[in-house]
Amino acid sequence: MDIIYRSTRNSAGGLKASEAIIQGISTDGGLFVPDHFPKLDKSVSELAKMDYKGVAYEVMKLFLTDFSEEELKYCIEHAYDEKFDTEEIAPLSYVENAYYLELFHGKTIAFKDMALSILPYLMTTAAKKNHVEEKIVILTATSGDTGKAALAGFADVEGCGIVVFYPKGGVSRVQERQMVTQKGANVKVVGITGNFDDAQTGVKQIFADRELQAQMKERGYRFSSANSINIGRLIPQVAYYVFAYTRLVKEGRISDGEKINFTVPTGNFGNILAGYYAKQIGIPVKNLICASNENKVLFDFFESGIYDRNREFILTSSPSMDILISSNLERLIYEIAGEDADACRELMKSLSENGRYEITDAMKERLKGFIGGYASEEECAKRIHDVYADTGYVMDTHTAVASAVYDKYVKASKDTTPTVIVSTASPFKFTRSVMEALEQKKEDADDFELIDRLSAMTGMNVPNAVEEIRNAEVLHDTVCDKEQMKDEVIKFLK
Ligand SMILES: *Cc1c(COP(=O)(O)O)cnc(C)c1O
Repeated sequence: MDIIYRSTRNSAGGLKASEAIIQGISTDGGLFVPDHFPKLDKSVSELAKMDYKGVAYEVMKLFLTDFSEEELKYCIEHAYDEKFDTEEIAPLSYVENAYYLELFHGKTIAFKDMALSILPYLMTTAAKKNHVEEKIVILTATSGDTGKAALAGFADVEGCGIVVFYPKGGVSRVQERQMVTQKGANVKVVGITGNFDDAQTGVKQIFADRELQAQMKERGYRFSSANSINIGRLIPQVAYYVFAYTRLVKEGRISDGEKINFTVPTGNFGNILAGYYAKQIGIPVKNLICASNENKVLFDFFESGIYDRNREFILTSSPSMDILISSNLERLIYEIAGEDADACRELMKSLSENGRYEITDAMKERLKGFIGGYASEEECAKRIHDVYADTGYVMDTHTAVASAVYDKYVKASKDTTPTVIVSTASPFKFTRSVMEALEQKKEDADDFELIDRLSAMTGMNVPNAVEEIRNAEVLHDTVCDKEQMKDEVIKFLK
């Protein structure tokens, strides 16, 4: 049965997958959700015989039902190729008491590559299928990693342009350099004087600005999104949860049908939501452990049923998780409200007007299977240090949030369920914080010097993604206020 995508804020209408990908976000501000969850039609033992691309196809075909087999396979072939530095694409490492699912072997060494290496192919295929004549302009807010991964994917893609907004001063040195050195005739990178939530809100406002859209259409442009609000990002992420499960079965680590936990370092709630979708299509998941850093708005939500963003925004050493408005939670809210778009719309209205909302007891009941946790800056640094000292495994600051949360969870719950920790970035992307944790002192040295020291200390090669930017020329230096984001987009399209 074909899957139709509807807005979380309006039960009328409905789009095919390819149309939802082109549009990105619903015109009412809601996010597109599937009208039902399909079920995997291959057994775990069949999937275990496939490689990453094979599994990705089996998952994506269930959700992107208006793409032909040929179209999907074309997209998958071109996405998961030598851009990744390992043939497995998403390898698992067993360290201490958990499996680390390494999603950082792509071009920009963060997990955003898993979806953003395929989104440009899905987008251009969708545009062709739907006879879209305008040029598609991707507008993206980034907490650091989406920006580069989207730029790398969309640079010089015919029929597309891309503008990225990042919080100036709110990303790591490597993250910033990766973005501002981006080449391509169709790209623009803008720092904003604000945080990630400001950037994301600004982009959402541009999407909701119908007048601007009409103007742009006349000039031959239409906007779309590369943020995880786009189902073209969310659906490819479901694949690695399925892949991880089938690898554990294949390697004899678990039996077919045995339940496992996933611990996910969470910001915008896209990654962990993909885990929830994997559970819905048939992967045996016991708990999804949602790990937050000191911006623990999600932890508080899972504890109390109250989502309250009225609090201080904290800059941490896991900047890609410094978020107080987790956009994709809206999709979960829609599900636990019993797919009630009116209820969901009211709660989101309260969030935008009052900065908070509270869910009902019945909704809280349906949150079973999610466990919230958080880790302080100190706990994360200690975790990086201790795991390296005990095992020689080095993790980045985001993965460390998940690892520290999992460690606390196991001690408190005594749960021995096999657990996958979703590892979202290479330690070389956040080397300063990682080195400070390993050496337990402040570092004055330049970031690139620290990168070389980390490499010498651990024997790990410096990834290409870092070498590429060491001496690259800075090509983007625009900085604007959050109120000027729209003007920057208009300027770019002149
Ligand atoms: C984006 C990101 C996260 C958070 O993922 P969400 O899908 O936003 O929850 C965690 N770690 C890293 C390294 C990221 O880039």
